[in-house]
Amino acid sequence: MALIVQKYGGTSVASAERIGAVADRVARSRAAGHQVAVVVSAMAGETDRLLGLAASLRHPPRGRELDVVLASGEQASIGLLAMALEARGCPACSYTGAQVPIRTDSSFNRARILEIDGRRIRSDLEAGRVVVVAGFQGADEEGSITTLGRGGSDTTGVALAVALQADECQIYTDVDGVYTADPRIEPNARRLDRLTFEEMLELSSLGAKVLQIRAMEFASKYRVPLRVLSSFEDGPGTMIVPEDEEEGMEQPLISGIAFNRDEAKITVHRVPDRPGVAYRLLADIAAANIEVDMIVQNAAPEHDETDFTFTVNRNDYERAREMVDPVAEELGAERVTGDPRIVKLSLVGVGMRSHAGIASRMFDALARESVNIQMISTSEIKISVVVDERYLELGVRALHEAFDLHDG
Ligand code: ADP
Ligand code: ASP
Ligand code: MG
Repeated sequence: MALIVQKYGGTSVASAERIGAVADRVARSRAAGHQVAVVVSAMAGETDRLLGLAASLRHPPRGRELDVVLASGEQASIGLLAMALEARGCPACSYTGAQVPIRTDSSFNRARILEIDGRRIRSDLEAGRVVVVAGFQGADEEGSITTLGRGGSDTTGVALAVALQADECQIYTDVDGVYTADPRIEPNARRLDRLTFEEMLELSSLGAKVLQIRAMEFASKYRVPLRVLSSFEDGPGTMIVPEDEEEGMEQPLISGIAFNRDEAKITVHRVPDRPGVAYRLLADIAAANIEVDMIVQNAAPEHDETDFTFTVNRNDYERAREMVDPVAEELGAERVTGDPRIVKLSLVGVGMRSHAGIASRMFDALARESVNIQMISTSEIKISVVVDERYLELGVRALHEAFDLHDG
């Protein structure tokens, strides 16, 4: 007998019929002798609907009350799934985040899980019940409802697996595993049988929404055996494993391509090239907790001036401009320009460590399609470029082809 955490995403619980199909799957696992803790998302589209409603009353929607609204989506799902299980003769009990309790900090809308008390859940499991836990939510010290950021049910699933010391955490979704690229953008993408934590962590952080980045942080920190599977069809899925388990196996050069369309670029032109300028330009942005991703500085020595470019999340673009524009003027910069219509394309693979020439092959593939590269950044196992958003699909496909990632 194993203890399994199964997480089902929004499309997997999108209708009463699909909730019934999830209940069948859960009941089968229990009938096979396993203890099953289920984590569910809100029905597909529900979180967006609630967010839209909230935005119509307070723009931009944020803060404590937004979390009260958003958490209701997952609350409906857990009750419905528990009822579907009971209708199948499978005893079940639902829990909101606060009921578990899943304790988080008080950063409403993007809270972090601090602690999960698994005692109530464990005694339910031991009594033979399936527990159904609401994803994406918790409660802070005061008992206020919090949510974990979009895609946060993945994090609930993995964190619960850690708390219960589960044998496996299964992420059921609308694709049958992790692919070499988002199969919605690259039809020739190939399902990967295995992937290391490090690679998946990198893919998630670079935009692959199949697993939320925080879920991957938890999974790799606590080495939770993780599998991504389809909730619609049976199959082996993708197993995500520690790198040392992969030793001896031949590593592919590139494991996947990720993209992120949520970024925007800001350039400060011809700002004086002297100590403290980068600090001044970014100080207010950092203080406002706005995350800066890529930074490129091009000095023109003959003029003692430099161009300073950086990217932020598109949602933070306007706010970042409001902070940078006056500082740039104060520093004597020529002007500030911005472009919210960019995307970041990235190649990821642990095989990059031991191979030279990947970057030039990447740049060549993009050049052949006349895709202009605006920014570049590299690390040990990834290379990212910023390009105009209209080249997203062309760029992904060109890279997929250039690195032979397709089937067969
Ligand atoms: P869920 O609602 O189940 O959490 P998500 O929409 O959050 O599902 O994540 C699944 C989606 O992730 C897929 O439908 C797919 O479009 C997207 N995706 C992005 N990159 C990849 C990838 N490399 N492999 C598989 N799916 C990916
Ligand atoms: N329902 C939330 C969202 O849409 C959380 C999740 O599905 O993981 O972002
Ligand atoms: Mg998701």
